[in-house]
Amino acid sequence: MISRIDLRGAAFPEGGIDRDLLPRAEFDVEAALETVRPICDDVRHRGGEAVIDYGERFDGVRVERLRVADKAIAEALDGLDPDVRAALEESIRRARIVHREQRRTDVTTQVVPGGTVTEKWVPVQRVGLYVPGGLAVYPSSVVMNVVPAQEAGVGGVAVASPPQKDFGGLPHPTVLAACALLGVDEVYATGGAQAVAMFAYGTDECRPVNLVTGPGNIYVAAAKRLLKGRIGIDAEAGPTEIAILADASADPGYVAADLISQAEHDPLAAAVLVTTSPELADAVDGELATRVAATKHRDRITAALSGRQSATVLVDTLDQGLDVVDAYAAEHLEIQTRDAAAVAARVRNAGAIFVGPHAPVSLGDYCAGSNHVLPTGGCACHSSGLSVQSFLRGIHVVDYSRDALAEVAGHVVTLANAEDLPAHGEAVTARFGGAL
Ligand code: NAD
Repeated sequence: MISRIDLRGAAFPEGGIDRDLLPRAEFDVEAALETVRPICDDVRHRGGEAVIDYGERFDGVRVERLRVADKAIAEALDGLDPDVRAALEESIRRARIVHREQRRTDVTTQVVPGGTVTEKWVPVQRVGLYVPGGLAVYPSSVVMNVVPAQEAGVGGVAVASPPQKDFGGLPHPTVLAACALLGVDEVYATGGAQAVAMFAYGTDECRPVNLVTGPGNIYVAAAKRLLKGRIGIDAEAGPTEIAILADASADPGYVAADLISQAEHDPLAAAVLVTTSPELADAVDGELATRVAATKHRDRITAALSGRQSATVLVDTLDQGLDVVDAYAAEHLEIQTRDAAAVAARVRNAGAIFVGPHAPVSLGDYCAGSNHVLPTGGCACHSSGLSVQSFLRGIHVVDYSRDALAEVAGHVVTLANAEDLPAHGEAVTARFGGAL
């Protein structure tokens, strides 16, 4: 079901292994830009009517209005299964514990007597949080978007999630209930590129936002890339990925269960096992065969595991395994080896790392306290997952006295003249009667 890439005996160059040797989903956001550009333009010009039209076309349901009524949100909470409510509350509680600790304090540095620079952290004013709702529904993504935004102190939080045919064009009731638990009352029944465009340009019902975050499919990712600049965006968080670095000590049942758990998201999801043990690889193949046949979304999982984005990669040593997972830069990386914590400490590129046999990615998806909106497609080598930091901006506040300015004025004038920008220097000398 899952293909093999045998890198035993291969050269591992000093600067890192060639990424092209590794599996990766065909997720061509550039191509999807052509699909989403006319959608975004249309929303810009026709506003809410266009957003509603695209909901009818892509989600199969036409809504009267995009903003979900307070009553519908309250009813969703009333109808929430008590066990699901308890689980969501625990997920929120743990996420708050972790994200609250991420708050930044302003730092003031005295550069010279009378001259200070303060780095002041200010929350983004208004954010649009995307909660996917195509193939699966993600109340957990409400938690993962909203908690860091709230802990950062963002004032205006709006959520968008696709309208569901089976629920009268409202977002899924569990998504609405999660919003209610978090105290979010501004929710829109729209998904895909039109939701991102609504947030960016605004409509009659929705004021524009400054920043859009949240995971989504290729159309969501493409719209975020297209509208970046007008809005801020978080890292690209597309089809989910799991990589597992394992040695012979790993339990093949755990490894297989975890690969399947992420393949369940999407036929484009990627599941990659990197191992020094061919025996483990064989045992995992056996476990996959029995477990996939017995699970609910076996068709989607089979497509994901047998796609070219998934593979078992055989290596000679754990060092080579680390090279492979660093080059792959997975959204989720599990370390299932002896001394897993020591091995994890050596990883440089991953969205999130799950250490040892008792930290499956599913724990992080819901209840570890960590965030599950994480960079995919190799973006983990330059970007981070969602955190309080994603919703803050650092502003430098420069405060110099006359004496402190006088002390450095000569250098400012020299550098200004060296850049042939003498007026820059004159702005300084003007404060000292035109001369230093
Ligand atoms: P989604 O809400 O992202 O997308 C659904 C929307 O796509 C629809 O509302 C529709 O408007 C639009 N759409 C569908 N077909 C279209 C077409 N042909 N043209 C234009 N627009 C179209 O939901 P999804 O599809 O289930 O995708 C969710 C994704 O999010 C999955 O890939 C999942 O793996 C990923 N995910 C990632 C993370 C992460 O942190 N990386 C977390 C959760 C989910």
